[in-house]
Amino acid sequence: MTTVFVSGANGFIGQHTVQQLLEAGYTVIGSVRSQEKGKKLSTALKSDKFSFVVIPNIADVGAFDKVLDDNKQITTFLHIASPFRFNVQDIEKEILIPAIEGTRNVLTSIKDHAPQVTKVVVTSSDAAARENDDKNPDLTLDESVWSKATYESSKHDPVAAYLGSKPLAEKLAWKFVEEEKPNFKLITVLPSYTFGPQIDDSLVLKDLNSSSKVFEEIITSNPDSQLYTHNGSFVDVRDAAKAHLVAFQNDEAIGKRLILSSNRFTSQTIRDILLKEFPQFKGQIFEGVPGEDIEDIKQMPVLNYSQTNNILGFKFRDIKTSSVDAVAQLLRVRDA
Ligand code: NDP
Repeated sequence: MTTVFVSGANGFIGQHTVQQLLEAGYTVIGSVRSQEKGKKLSTALKSDKFSFVVIPNIADVGAFDKVLDDNKQITTFLHIASPFRFNVQDIEKEILIPAIEGTRNVLTSIKDHAPQVTKVVVTSSDAAARENDDKNPDLTLDESVWSKATYESSKHDPVAAYLGSKPLAEKLAWKFVEEEKPNFKLITVLPSYTFGPQIDDSLVLKDLNSSSKVFEEIITSNPDSQLYTHNGSFVDVRDAAKAHLVAFQNDEAIGKRLILSSNRFTSQTIRDILLKEFPQFKGQIFEGVPGEDIEDIKQMPVLNYSQTNNILGFKFRDIKTSSVDAVAQLLRVRDA
């Protein structure tokens, strides 16, 4: 069976994707940034079909050449790695350049060093498929929509840089395929806010991945906390991983953008679920206004991702499942 390469194998979406690939019988080679991270992931995965290489920075030109020269059995490449952290000193060096040049490096290495690769999946984000107007219920978003972020507009702050890094990297990928005409077919996967547990309690980091921090902020708040309100669409991490498999398994996905959205949510949606499912939070955390999310969600653009959903052919988990599983794990690990 196919050997699949996964960049960013230890990340939140990466680890679930690797686990599901192994469960499906694939051999997987993953890239991580240090030996320590690779060993920790290997221990959690418990599979002799997984191995890893250390690639400290995807922005280094030729970073993937050697592993592709050494492993001619790789026929599928999932490029999931991209900076998704906001505590950075240098926005360009730590976010924009690795996201954009990392994608260029991956595609160039595959073209020049792995002509046997037939499918490449690049992980983008629904941020790459949004209009600037997040509060316009008359707007419909589908797979044809592109963010208008530019390199210049993305340099202002780390959040703008992350939101800009995704469309810029994804556009580069489509342009590369159009101009360079490599042997492989491209598919992009655009998750929305990705929620749920890590594959193993041992992989719950002290400094959690950005989307899991949404839950930590809520459960460590106090009644007077002033919390940022997250709102948008979400997908469970297990479904996001599964979509990465379908992306290369189903030929109907070739040349498509797959946008992953289970439903709309706001921070209040999550708070209301957690207060019901974990009664110990009552009176302890910032509770907001129960049910306030319903009106807020009505003001958001309408989503029409039927093209993606038809290709994927499976139903996404709901926000209650993702929230409860994420928080149950956090409570287990943080209280241990
Ligand atoms: P994580 O931060 O958990 O994973 C990111 C992965 O990329 C990690 O393995 C990280 O390594 C690696 N990485 C980051 N920068 C570099 C670099 N310069 N060189 C080498 N490796 C690097 O985030 P997620 O799993 O959530 O994100 C995975 C992908 O999904 C990203 O492309 C992200 O943009 C996308 N995405 C995520 C969403 C979410 O809500 N989680 C939503 C939409 C898209 P290390 O662990 O060492 O930092």
